[in-house]
Amino acid sequence: MRKYSLFCNMCGKEIKMEKNVAREGVLAVEHTWGYFSEKDGEIHSFDLCEQCYDHLTAQFKIPPAIKKQTEYL
Ligand SMILES: [Zn+2]
Repeated sequence: MRKYSLFCNMCGKEIKMEKNVAREGVLAVEHTWGYFSEKDGEIHSFDLCEQCYDHLTAQFKIPPAIKKQTEYL
């Protein structure tokens, strides 16, 4: 699906786009729920701005795994 504007689902802020590329950090999530979930076959997607990502992950008991990107494609 082609999106012309992008919004953070958590705070509602518009994420600046230039030629369909986000001009700031954004986490784009798309997940297909499987058979053992109660959402079998549903595809859920949302976007988070970097600030909301930081707020969200700050609440994690176990922080996200972070590694450095070593190769650029
Ligand atoms: Zn946000």
